[in-house]
Amino acid sequence: MHRRLPTVFAAALIALLGLLSLPARAETTGATGAAAAAAPVFKAPYPCGQRWTYSHHSAEVRRALDFIRSDGGSTAGTPVLASAAGTATRHSQPSGAGNYIVIDHGGGWKTYYFHLAAYSVANGASVSQGQQIGTTGSTGNSTGAHIHYEQLYNGAGQDIVINGSRLSYPGSYNQAYLTSDNGCGGTGTPFTTWGTDVRVRADARLSAAVVTVLPGPTNVRVLCQKQGDTVNAEGYTNAWWSKLRDQGGFVSNIYIDHPAYKLPGVPEC
Ligand SMILES: [Zn+2]
Repeated sequence: MHRRLPTVFAAALIALLGLLSLPARAETTGATGAAAAAAPVFKAPYPCGQRWTYSHHSAEVRRALDFIRSDGGSTAGTPVLASAAGTATRHSQPSGAGNYIVIDHGGGWKTYYFHLAAYSVANGASVSQGQQIGTTGSTGNSTGAHIHYEQLYNGAGQDIVINGSRLSYPGSYNQAYLTSDNGCGGTGTPFTTWGTDVRVRADARLSAAVVTVLPGPTNVRVLCQKQGDTVNAEGYTNAWWSKLRDQGGFVSNIYIDHPAYKLPGVPEC
């Protein structure tokens, strides 16, 4: 976060000189807007290490891709995993999608998982990335077990992006493949903290217990991030917190040495 400081100071200085009163505010608004429009870092909708092949859904439906296993394992009955954290709802359409789950990730983003043999979460459940939400099946209008998968933004189907890369849309299976790293447990993403005597807390709340204190800049691995209490410190305001692998707790993103309020490439908890 602290690499923004010179820009903020410069904007504040200009404002103080009375030359221009808006840049500081525009800086804040711009950062917030960018964060709201950013897509979650979606991961494959099936377990860590499995290799599946995919093809463009034959009748175009919201940029859907159909997935089947191509690593020798059985497609039917394989867990279907949440691509990213969110709120899961159950749906049923016997003549079409069959049993399916929709996950609302916030910010206008949703993912759809069709033809489930069974649901694994309650309607309205809060799910984490990599959590099992169902089992792969062939319910509804389907000729064989597969995962029909969609990513929607504000109700419109988007080209499917996994780990930041857009997938291709081949006309049949066995042309394109994707190996999952969803739910692998994760090594986390390396960052460095800054500041002295930075508190790491049991949760993303200022009232949560302090589990450890970072005396100075520390190399950390961030497993995931989530919104919690808004923190005002070091001239910044930020509600995002990072979960640190080795410290076993959360630290305000203010103390992560990166210019973004919400860290890129780090999934939500
Ligand atoms: Zn399909």
